[in-house]
Amino acid sequence: MSATVIDGKAVAAEVRTRVAAEVREFADSNQDHVPGLATVLVGDDPPSHVYVSNKRKGTEEVGMRSIHHGLEASTPEQELVELVDALNGDDDVDGILVQLPLPGHIDQDKVIAGIEPAKDVDGLTAHVAGLLAQGRPGLVPCTPQGVMELLARSGVEPTGAEAVVVGRSILVGRPLASLLLNANATVTVCHSRTQDLPAVCRRGDILVAAVGSPELIGGDWVKPGATVIDVGMNRTDEGLVGDVDFAAVSEVARAITPVPGGVGPMTIAMLLENTLRAARMRRA
Ligand code: NAP
Repeated sequence: MSATVIDGKAVAAEVRTRVAAEVREFADSNQDHVPGLATVLVGDDPPSHVYVSNKRKGTEEVGMRSIHHGLEASTPEQELVELVDALNGDDDVDGILVQLPLPGHIDQDKVIAGIEPAKDVDGLTAHVAGLLAQGRPGLVPCTPQGVMELLARSGVEPTGAEAVVVGRSILVGRPLASLLLNANATVTVCHSRTQDLPAVCRRGDILVAAVGSPELIGGDWVKPGATVIDVGMNRTDEGLVGDVDFAAVSEVARAITPVPGGVGPMTIAMLLENTLRAARMRRA
């Protein structure tokens, strides 16, 4: 079998086009209010600068406002907490994204907890996570939402399917498990203490890898005909590689996402969608 390659770039481009059209409609029916995304970047971490600049560019490309705050690495925690609070109270700001990681002297959890849940477009606050875990409507973390969109676009029906998620982070594994469960899949979540991981992975009609271990998932870990989504982004001497051995798994799976060009492009597209959703929810 040779798997169909799921083109995340193409799906992300479609989502952006849809969001751009909906942003115009939103402004027309909300007294010309254009949704705004505030980005907060603390320090000089080069990858973080690239991520934030791509998010700002994407925001402007769909016709939304980008409001950026770049702070020195030495910024005191209290100053960041006060900035987040000011953004919470600013009616022109619909979404707040604090780029992680923050410098070591700042308590990341405290800063995240200070974000107004209605503006938490990264979906990291306990309030947003709680709504998702209870299957209630709300904002959803961007990468897991991107995975669900890719599954839908590749014709996968989660209802009744066995879904195996490898990784239990707050950012990816846990919210994705909730989304799959809410979509009526039978979900197994694996982690570093899981016994006989290959055997558990082989149960999955849907197999998602969000580990951070280059090419961990081999061809013999995959159920024939499964749909395999690779969230991993690992920088190696050979370049960017995922958590899945793409060549070997392509011989077994029905469909697979590449790295790069799979889940990665979906994350920013979903951030834009979330910002529009936050604007709608605050004005509903
Ligand atoms: P993380 O916070 O480091 O979590 C990794 C998870 O994998 C943990 O739950 C860990 O288990 C589990 N794990 C580690 N080694 C394992 C092993 N050998 N067997 C089974 N489970 C193992 O990472 P993350 O933030 O979720 O990110 C995961 C990957 O996705 C990374 O490569 C990251 O760069 C990538 N990512 C990509 C995007 C995107 O836009 N494409 C977005 C976010 C993240 P324990 O809980 O037991 O430690």
